[in-house]
Parts: sequence; structure tokens; C-alpha cells
Amino acid sequence: MHANSASPLASGDGLYDAVVTGCGVVGLGAALVLASHGFRVSVVGRRPPQFQPNPAQRFDPRVFALSHRSQRILDRLRVWDNIPNDKVQPVLEMQIWGDSQGPDQGQLRFSASDTGVDSLTWIIEQSSLFDSLLAAVRYQPAIDWVDAPVEGLSRERDVWAVVSNLKTLRTRLLIAADGAQSLTRQQAGLDYELDDYCAEGVVATFEVEQHHHGSARQWFEGDSVLAMLPLPGPYVSMVWSQPLHESQRTKELAPQALAESVMAVSGGAVQALYGQLKPCGQTYAFPLRHGIAPVWFDQGVVLMGDAAHVVHPLAGQGLNLGLEDVAELAQLLTSRKRLLAVQRLGLADEQLWRAWERRRKAACAPVHFITDGLHNLFRLDLPGVATLRNKGMQLVNQLPMLKRWLSQQAMR
Ligand SMILES: Cc1cc2nc3c(=O)[nH]c(=O)nc-3n(C[C@H](O)[C@H](O)[C@H](O)COP(=O)(O)OP(=O)(O)OC[C@H]3O[C@@H](n4cnc5c(N)ncnc54)[C@H](O)[C@@H]3O)c2cc1C
Repeated sequence: MHANSASPLASGDGLYDAVVTGCGVVGLGAALVLASHGFRVSVVGRRPPQFQPNPAQRFDPRVFALSHRSQRILDRLRVWDNIPNDKVQPVLEMQIWGDSQGPDQGQLRFSASDTGVDSLTWIIEQSSLFDSLLAAVRYQPAIDWVDAPVEGLSRERDVWAVVSNLKTLRTRLLIAADGAQSLTRQQAGLDYELDDYCAEGVVATFEVEQHHHGSARQWFEGDSVLAMLPLPGPYVSMVWSQPLHESQRTKELAPQALAESVMAVSGGAVQALYGQLKPCGQTYAFPLRHGIAPVWFDQGVVLMGDAAHVVHPLAGQGLNLGLEDVAELAQLLTSRKRLLAVQRLGLADEQLWRAWERRRKAACAPVHFITDGLHNLFRLDLPGVATLRNKGMQLVNQLPMLKRWLSQQAMR
């Protein structure tokens, strides 16, 4: 039964129970959760350009490290099982190095076997995840997808009109999942100032001479962080977070020169682990920002995913937090009492969203605090600080109980 056939938002009045702006992973995930609970939803947004593997570029340059909680929600939405196995790389080990050289260098190592799991996280290409989400959306008759960008919003009493060049849609609940620079957030009067790190994440794929063995590796070097994420086969995806003055240079390097400069990181440690790196495809760069919107729900507008919170990618948590926003909504709707109340009152029910906002803000705050804090700690260039942070890493590495707890927090 569709909720709108029983609720005051009957299909005849032309209202959707919810309209989601933004056809990203979070927007599609939120639409699937609502549709699976019987609500009629429209998603408005262009699909990202489809990535076509080719001999020069076998892998989508955008990949995500997904946590156990993200995996669980994607599984419940019947998205996970449709991602081809050869597009998912389990992470069996994580290694992190500090920014000193020689014996003073801090090192942290987490392994799936020490933590009692098969995989710490999974590395997935954006395009594979997106294709599987879109297939699930196409199978869901309660979702209408409008393949056009949102051009504007207007408020007609308690109803939002969402304007695109294909259609105008009406709803009492508008979910803004249109990313860090959300137009919906801005037009609904919920905008806030994001902190610009004045840095970029430079992204490229390499074939490696020595296999990665499922290890995700990260090197901190002052205000740069190099992450090498394992991909299926002898390939790695690089995310090099650098201040703008360095990233501008890095992204202009010819592919082989880029490979040389990556191999030289940490006194040649990258080359020692992977051997020669062979570039596979182009280099891309993404701006790095940070922020949490002060208000996530007001007058029938909800902010989700990057529209609500943006974190530095050094801990690979941005999309995971967005998928947890979706999982929390699913969790709240599993209460039959609450579902019945929402079906009676409509999806814009203030109590539902206040509860959701409270839980999500409480879960996001520590992740923001830690990622921003780590970023700032490694940027500090004061005497003795480098020694302290490297010693701190060595100490944590020798405390199995604390390490186990830390890896469980990171995996959740
Ligand atoms: C270099 C880098 C590496 C990262 N690595 C990881 C990682 O390993 N793990 C992780 O969890 N996170 C990672 N992140 C973070 C992750 O990319 C984001 O948190 C995630 O993509 C947010 O998803 P979203 O759906 O909220 O927003 P987006 O992915 O930004 O999607 C928003 C969608 O809205 C659309 N849109 C925008 N404006 C409009 C409009 N006017 N009308 C309609 N649609 C519109 C956009 O086209 C887009 O499709 C990384 C980020 C960077 C920069």
C-alpha cells in the first residue's frame, strides 16, 4: 500500500510524500528507504556522467571506502548484492605512517583478523555503486526520477514547489541531498558558511608492481596526506590531499612524473612497498572543505549527506556519514507506532525529524571533531609537535585493546 493512498497526501492532489533534490548516493538511498515504507517519492537531479571503463582507464577515478554500517544499509536496500564482485575490494589491513623519518616515525596498523572481521572496510567505485542504486530505483514503482537539475524553489503555504526545466513538483517534505554547495539549502534559508581548507584531494589510479594484499595505506606529511587504497587486482587508487599551492602543481604533472613524485613520498617508502607505479588514466582534483549546518530540519526541509555535513576525506567518512543519515531514517521508521503516526500526519512530521536530527548530529559531531583535529594536528609546525604526534602513534600501536576499540569505532 502506498502511504499516499491512505494519508491526506493522496496521489490525486498531485503532491508527493517527499521530493529529494540531488541524484547522488545519499539522495537515491533516502528515496529507496521512503519508498520501501510505502511513501511516494520523486528524485530530481541529473545522473553523474557515466564512467565507461577503457584500456587506458580501467577504474572509475572516484572510489569510496565504505564502512560496515554503510554496507548494511545498502544490503537492506538490495543494492549491495547487485554490485559486481570484481568491483568490490575488501580492506584486510590499514597502515598509517606519521611524518618523522627513521625509527622515530609513528606507525599504526589495524588488521581485519585482529579485529575479528573479514574486512575492515570495502573500496567501491562510485560508478558501480551508482549503477546499482539506479537499478534499485528503477525497480521501485513508488519513485519517480526527474533527470534534470533543480532550478528553484517556492513555498505555497506549507507546500514546497520544486522547479526544474522538465517539471514542477509539489511536496510537504523536501529532502536536500544535493551536496556540499546545496542550492536547496540556500533557497530554503538554511545556508551556512563552509570552512575552506584551501586544499584539494588529487585523485589518480596506478597499476602496481608489488601487490597491495588488500592493504589501505596512508602517509601524513605535514599538511599533505597520501592515501593509497587497494582496488581489485594489482591496482591502487590514490587520494593525495594537499594544500592548494602543492595540489595545483601535482595535478598538472604528466602521468609518469606524478608516479615518480608519489613513489618518493616518505623517503621512498611508497616505492619500497609497491615497486614501480604505472599511471592508469587521468588525474582529477576535488576541493576540500569542512562544516556542519547549524539547522538540519526546518519548515519541511531536511538536509542530508554533504548538504548537512562535510568532512576532510582523510578518514574516508563523508559518504559513510551520509549513508548513516539514511540508515537512521530507516531505523526510525521501523517503529510501527512511529510509522503509523507519520502515515497519519504526513512525512513532514516535526517529531520524526527532530528525533532524526538529534541522533545524527550527536553521531556526526565526534567524526567532525576528530578529522578536523587530526588535519590541524599534522599541519602544526611547532618545535617538538612532530615528535609528540609520532610518539603518540607508536604508543597507540602498542596498546591492542585501544587499537581494537579504535578500529571498531572506525568500522561501525
Ligand atoms: C577526494 C575525496 C575522497 C573521498 N573519499 C571518501 C571515502 O573514501 N569514503 C567516504 O565515505 N567519503 C569519501 N569522500 C566524501 C564523499 O565524496 C561525499 O561525502 C559524498 O559524495 C556525499 O554524497 P552526497 O550524495 O551527500 O553528495 P554528492 O555526492 O555531492 O551528490 C549530490 C548530487 O546532487 C546533485 N546536484 C547538485 N546541485 C543540484 C541541483 N541544483 N539540482 C539537482 N541535483 C543537484 C549533484 O550533481 C550530485 O549528483 C571523499 C571526498 C573527496 C573530495
